[in-house]
Amino acid sequence: MPDNETINGRCLCGAVTMRVRPHSRHLDACHCTMCRRWGGGPLIVAHCAEDMELSGGEHVTTYVSSDWAERAFCSRCGTHLYYRLREGGLLAVPIGLLETDGPWRLAHEIFIDEKPDYYELAGDAERLTGAEVLARYGSP
Ligand SMILES: [Zn+2]
Ligand SMILES: [Zn+2]
Repeated sequence: MPDNETINGRCLCGAVTMRVRPHSRHLDACHCTMCRRWGGGPLIVAHCAEDMELSGGEHVTTYVSSDWAERAFCSRCGTHLYYRLREGGLLAVPIGLLETDGPWRLAHEIFIDEKPDYYELAGDAERLTGAEVLARYGSP
């Protein structure tokens, strides 16, 4: 995928719209306890360039979920908009917001050691424990 391809996305109510540039057509699923509490299930995201264009910013509420990361949501409809590292370097947007049919491939399942037994994702994505994620990327 060309690096400059942009994809539009929006929240459920439409108050917030976005344009993002995914780094690749690879998706990551996070099974960590915080992501599952945030969304009620695993978080499946596309990693995007940090120069995301957001409109409807007055409806965007940011929650600082840890010392290193923040999570944003639409204050009207509750749609989860992004997860990002506060120091920069990582912007993850839930794939369900983006107006695209793919092709996408689930490339990684991370924090697999925190995944409960009551669901399982199909496919041959690389599965990494939390410790392996920290060793590889330095932060979740
Ligand atoms: Zn909304
Ligand atoms: Zn997570």
